Amino acid sequence: MTLTDVIEVLEAAYPPARAESWDAVGLVSGDPAQAVHRVLLAVDPVAAVAEEALDWGADLIVTHHPLYLRGTTSVATTTPKGRLIHTLIKNDIALYTAHTNADVANPGVSDALARAVGLVGDLVPLQPFPDDPWRGLGRIGELPEKTTLGEFARQAADGLPRTPAGIRVAGDLSRPVLRVAVSGGAGDSLLGTAAAAGVDVFLTADLRHHPASEFVESGGPALIDAAHWATEWPWLDSAASILRASGVTVETRVSATVTDAWTRGY
Ligand SMILES: [Zn+2]
Repeated sequence: MTLTDVIEVLEAAYPPARAESWDAVGLVSGDPAQAVHRVLLAVDPVAAVAEEALDWGADLIVTHHPLYLRGTTSVATTTPKGRLIHTLIKNDIALYTAHTNADVANPGVSDALARAVGLVGDLVPLQPFPDDPWRGLGRIGELPEKTTLGEFARQAADGLPRTPAGIRVAGDLSRPVLRVAVSGGAGDSLLGTAAAAGVDVFLTADLRHHPASEFVESGGPALIDAAHWATEWPWLDSAASILRASGVTVETRVSATVTDAWTRGY
Protein backbone atom coordinates (compact mmCIF):
# COMPACT_ATOMS: atom_id res chain seq x y z
CA MET A 1 0.00 0.00 0.00
CA THR A 2 1.16 3.51 -0.67
CA LEU A 3 0.39 6.65 1.26
CA THR A 4 -1.78 7.72 -1.68
CA ASP A 5 -3.97 4.60 -1.22
CA VAL A 6 -4.48 5.37 2.47
CA ILE A 7 -5.18 9.04 1.83
CA GLU A 8 -7.85 8.12 -0.73
CA VAL A 9 -9.74 6.14 1.92
CA LEU A 10 -9.40 8.90 4.52
CA GLU A 11 -10.52 11.61 2.11
CA ALA A 12 -13.59 9.61 1.04
CA ALA A 13 -14.61 9.38 4.72
CA TYR A 14 -13.48 12.90 5.65
CA PRO A 15 -13.67 15.13 2.54
CA PRO A 16 -11.17 17.98 2.97
CA ALA A 17 -13.60 20.36 1.23
CA ARG A 18 -15.82 20.12 4.33
CA ALA A 19 -13.09 21.49 6.63
CA GLU A 20 -13.51 25.01 8.01
CA SER A 21 -11.77 27.72 5.95
CA TRP A 22 -9.33 28.48 8.82
CA ASP A 23 -8.36 24.84 9.22
CA ALA A 24 -5.29 23.02 7.84
CA VAL A 25 -6.10 19.40 7.00
CA GLY A 26 -4.49 16.74 4.82
CA LEU A 27 -0.90 15.62 4.35
CA VAL A 28 1.56 17.53 6.55
CA SER A 29 4.71 15.54 5.78
CA GLY A 30 5.58 12.46 3.77
CA ASP A 31 5.83 11.31 0.17
CA PRO A 32 2.53 10.17 -1.41
CA ALA A 33 4.47 7.38 -3.16
CA GLN A 34 5.98 5.93 0.04
CA ALA A 35 4.87 2.51 1.27
CA VAL A 36 2.61 2.38 4.33
CA HIS A 37 2.33 -0.73 6.50
CA ARG A 38 1.54 0.64 9.95
CA VAL A 39 -0.75 3.54 10.78
CA LEU A 40 -0.81 5.09 14.26
CA LEU A 41 -3.91 7.18 15.07
CA ALA A 42 -3.68 9.89 17.72
CA VAL A 43 -5.43 13.10 18.75
CA ASP A 44 -2.35 15.34 18.94
CA PRO A 45 0.83 15.60 16.85
CA VAL A 46 3.18 15.89 19.83
CA ALA A 47 6.57 14.42 20.80
CA ALA A 48 5.11 11.56 22.88
CA VAL A 49 3.06 10.41 19.89
CA ALA A 50 6.07 10.62 17.55
CA GLU A 51 8.02 8.47 20.05
CA GLU A 52 5.23 5.92 20.08
CA ALA A 53 5.23 5.86 16.27
CA LEU A 54 9.00 5.30 16.24
CA ASP A 55 8.85 2.51 18.83
CA TRP A 56 6.06 0.71 16.99
CA GLY A 57 7.56 1.22 13.53
CA ALA A 58 4.69 3.29 12.10
CA ASP A 59 5.00 4.72 8.58
CA LEU A 60 2.09 7.10 9.03
CA ILE A 61 0.54 9.02 11.90
CA VAL A 62 -3.04 10.19 11.44
CA THR A 63 -3.93 12.92 13.92
CA HIS A 64 -7.06 14.90 14.61
CA HIS A 65 -5.32 18.17 15.45
CA PRO A 66 -3.19 19.96 12.84
CA LEU A 67 0.51 20.51 13.55
CA TYR A 68 0.61 23.92 11.88
CA LEU A 69 -2.40 26.22 11.59
CA ARG A 70 -0.73 29.55 10.88
CA GLY A 71 1.96 30.81 8.55
CA THR A 72 5.26 29.03 9.20
CA THR A 73 8.65 30.24 8.04
CA SER A 74 10.88 27.70 9.80
CA VAL A 75 10.86 24.02 10.71
CA ALA A 76 14.23 24.26 12.49
CA THR A 77 14.69 22.08 15.56
CA THR A 78 14.64 25.20 17.72
CA THR A 79 10.88 24.75 18.24
CA PRO A 80 8.92 21.68 19.43
CA LYS A 81 7.05 21.54 16.12
CA GLY A 82 10.27 21.77 14.14
CA ARG A 83 11.78 18.95 16.22
CA LEU A 84 8.69 16.85 15.54
CA ILE A 85 8.93 17.43 11.78
CA HIS A 86 12.62 16.47 11.84
CA THR A 87 11.89 13.27 13.76
CA LEU A 88 9.16 12.32 11.31
CA ILE A 89 11.10 13.04 8.13
CA LYS A 90 14.33 11.41 9.35
CA ASN A 91 12.36 8.25 10.10
CA ASP A 92 10.15 8.21 6.99
CA ILE A 93 6.99 8.68 9.06
CA ALA A 94 4.27 10.61 7.25
CA LEU A 95 1.79 12.84 9.10
CA TYR A 96 -1.81 13.36 7.99
CA THR A 97 -4.55 15.40 9.67
CA ALA A 98 -8.35 15.11 9.57
CA HIS A 99 -9.73 17.85 11.82
CA THR A 100 -12.93 19.85 11.24
CA ASN A 101 -13.65 17.65 8.22
CA ALA A 102 -13.73 14.68 10.65
CA ASP A 103 -15.89 16.68 13.10
CA VAL A 104 -18.67 17.15 10.54
CA ALA A 105 -18.43 13.73 8.84
CA ASN A 106 -20.94 10.92 9.26
CA PRO A 107 -19.73 8.97 11.12
CA GLY A 108 -17.47 11.59 12.63
CA VAL A 109 -15.91 12.70 15.90
CA SER A 110 -19.18 13.38 17.72
CA ASP A 111 -20.78 10.07 16.65
CA ALA A 112 -17.95 8.21 18.36
CA LEU A 113 -18.26 10.46 21.41
CA ALA A 114 -22.04 9.91 21.56
CA ARG A 115 -21.62 6.13 21.54
CA ALA A 116 -18.83 6.28 24.12
CA VAL A 117 -21.09 8.06 26.61
CA GLY A 118 -23.97 5.65 26.02
CA LEU A 119 -26.30 7.25 23.46
CA VAL A 120 -28.30 4.74 21.42
CA GLY A 121 -30.40 4.82 18.26
CA ASP A 122 -30.21 7.45 15.55
CA LEU A 123 -27.89 10.39 16.01
CA VAL A 124 -28.59 13.67 14.24
CA PRO A 125 -26.24 16.64 13.91
CA LEU A 126 -26.69 19.37 16.49
CA GLN A 127 -25.84 21.92 13.79
CA PRO A 128 -26.49 20.27 10.42
CA PHE A 129 -25.16 21.61 7.14
CA PRO A 130 -27.88 23.54 5.27
CA ASP A 131 -27.29 21.25 2.27
CA ASP A 132 -26.96 17.98 4.21
CA PRO A 133 -29.07 17.19 7.28
CA TRP A 134 -26.94 14.12 8.15
CA ARG A 135 -23.63 15.94 8.42
CA GLY A 136 -22.53 18.82 10.61
CA LEU A 137 -21.22 19.72 14.05
CA GLY A 138 -22.20 17.86 17.23
CA ARG A 139 -24.78 15.11 17.61
CA ILE A 140 -28.09 14.72 19.44
CA GLY A 141 -29.21 11.32 20.65
CA GLU A 142 -31.01 9.59 23.48
CA LEU A 143 -30.10 7.37 26.38
CA PRO A 144 -31.78 3.94 26.49
CA GLU A 145 -33.90 5.18 29.38
CA LYS A 146 -34.39 8.28 31.47
CA THR A 147 -31.79 8.71 34.19
CA THR A 148 -30.46 11.52 36.36
CA LEU A 149 -27.75 14.00 35.50
CA GLY A 150 -25.57 12.51 38.24
CA GLU A 151 -25.95 8.97 36.89
CA PHE A 152 -25.31 10.08 33.33
CA ALA A 153 -22.19 12.00 34.37
CA ARG A 154 -20.85 8.84 36.04
CA GLN A 155 -21.64 6.81 32.92
CA ALA A 156 -19.96 9.40 30.69
CA ALA A 157 -16.86 9.42 32.88
CA ASP A 158 -16.72 5.61 32.70
CA GLY A 159 -17.21 5.59 28.92
CA LEU A 160 -14.47 8.10 28.15
CA PRO A 161 -10.75 7.44 28.61
CA ARG A 162 -9.45 8.55 31.99
CA THR A 163 -7.69 11.88 32.22
CA PRO A 164 -6.30 13.73 35.25
CA ALA A 165 -8.84 16.52 34.72
CA GLY A 166 -11.80 14.12 34.66
CA ILE A 167 -15.20 15.64 33.89
CA ARG A 168 -17.10 18.53 35.47
CA VAL A 169 -20.85 18.89 35.77
CA ALA A 170 -23.01 22.03 35.96
CA GLY A 171 -26.62 21.55 37.00
CA ASP A 172 -28.86 19.77 39.51
CA LEU A 173 -27.57 16.18 39.79
CA SER A 174 -31.11 14.85 40.31
CA ARG A 175 -32.33 16.47 37.08
CA PRO A 176 -33.89 13.92 34.68
CA VAL A 177 -31.84 13.28 31.55
CA LEU A 178 -32.91 11.51 28.34
CA ARG A 179 -32.01 13.65 25.30
CA VAL A 180 -28.34 14.50 25.10
CA ALA A 181 -26.26 16.73 22.81
CA VAL A 182 -22.52 16.14 22.46
CA SER A 183 -19.75 17.88 20.59
CA GLY A 184 -16.15 16.66 20.57
CA GLY A 185 -13.55 19.30 21.39
CA ALA A 186 -14.25 22.91 22.27
CA GLY A 187 -18.02 23.26 21.86
CA ASP A 188 -18.94 26.54 23.50
CA SER A 189 -19.94 28.06 20.15
CA LEU A 190 -22.78 25.52 20.18
CA LEU A 191 -24.24 26.45 23.60
CA GLY A 192 -27.10 28.45 22.06
CA THR A 193 -27.82 25.73 19.52
CA ALA A 194 -27.95 23.11 22.28
CA ALA A 195 -30.38 25.24 24.30
CA ALA A 196 -32.60 25.75 21.24
CA ALA A 197 -32.57 22.00 20.56
CA GLY A 198 -34.28 21.37 23.89
CA VAL A 199 -31.87 18.68 25.09
CA ASP A 200 -31.51 17.82 28.78
CA VAL A 201 -27.72 18.01 28.85
CA PHE A 202 -24.91 19.18 26.57
CA LEU A 203 -21.55 17.42 26.84
CA THR A 204 -18.48 19.04 25.30
CA ALA A 205 -15.03 20.34 26.31
CA ASP A 206 -13.20 23.57 27.12
CA LEU A 207 -16.22 25.41 28.52
CA ARG A 208 -15.43 28.70 30.24
CA HIS A 209 -16.81 30.07 33.50
CA HIS A 210 -18.96 32.96 32.25
CA PRO A 211 -20.66 31.30 29.28
CA ALA A 212 -21.29 28.15 31.36
CA SER A 213 -22.55 30.04 34.39
CA GLU A 214 -24.87 32.26 32.36
CA PHE A 215 -26.13 29.28 30.38
CA VAL A 216 -27.11 27.32 33.48
CA GLU A 217 -28.57 30.44 35.18
CA SER A 218 -30.81 31.05 32.18
CA GLY A 219 -32.40 27.62 32.60
CA GLY A 220 -30.64 25.92 29.68
CA PRO A 221 -29.68 22.25 29.57
CA ALA A 222 -27.25 20.93 32.17
CA LEU A 223 -23.60 20.96 31.09
CA ILE A 224 -20.85 18.38 31.22
CA ASP A 225 -17.33 19.58 30.50
CA ALA A 226 -14.94 16.76 29.69
CA ALA A 227 -11.23 16.82 28.85
CA HIS A 228 -10.71 17.97 25.26
CA TRP A 229 -8.50 14.98 24.39
CA ALA A 230 -10.98 12.52 25.92
CA THR A 231 -13.91 13.79 23.83
CA GLU A 232 -12.02 13.29 20.58
CA TRP A 233 -10.15 10.10 21.38
CA PRO A 234 -13.14 7.74 20.71
CA TRP A 235 -13.07 8.86 17.06
CA LEU A 236 -9.65 7.31 16.53
CA ASP A 237 -11.10 3.81 16.70
CA SER A 238 -13.83 4.79 14.24
CA ALA A 239 -11.22 6.10 11.77
CA ALA A 240 -9.12 2.96 12.25
CA SER A 241 -12.19 0.81 11.52
CA ILE A 242 -12.82 2.74 8.30
CA LEU A 243 -9.24 2.05 7.20
CA ARG A 244 -9.48 -1.65 8.06
CA ALA A 245 -12.84 -2.04 6.29
CA SER A 246 -11.62 -0.27 3.16
CA GLY A 247 -9.44 -3.06 1.87
CA VAL A 248 -6.15 -1.19 2.32
CA THR A 249 -3.87 -3.73 3.93
CA VAL A 250 -2.38 -1.72 6.76
CA GLU A 251 -2.00 -2.44 10.43
CA THR A 252 -3.68 0.16 12.62
CA ARG A 253 -3.08 1.16 16.20
CA VAL A 254 -4.86 3.75 18.32
CA SER A 255 -2.51 5.66 20.58
CA ALA A 256 -3.43 5.35 24.23
CA THR A 257 -0.97 8.08 25.20
CA VAL A 258 -2.94 10.73 27.08
CA THR A 259 -2.01 14.03 25.45
CA ASP A 260 -4.59 16.24 27.13
CA ALA A 261 -3.03 19.57 28.12
CA TRP A 262 -3.96 19.06 31.81
CA THR A 263 -1.64 16.49 33.30
CA ARG A 264 -2.65 16.55 36.94
CA GLY A 265 -5.79 17.28 38.91
CA TYR A 266 -5.87 17.90 42.67
ZN1 LIG B 1 -9.92 19.21 19.27
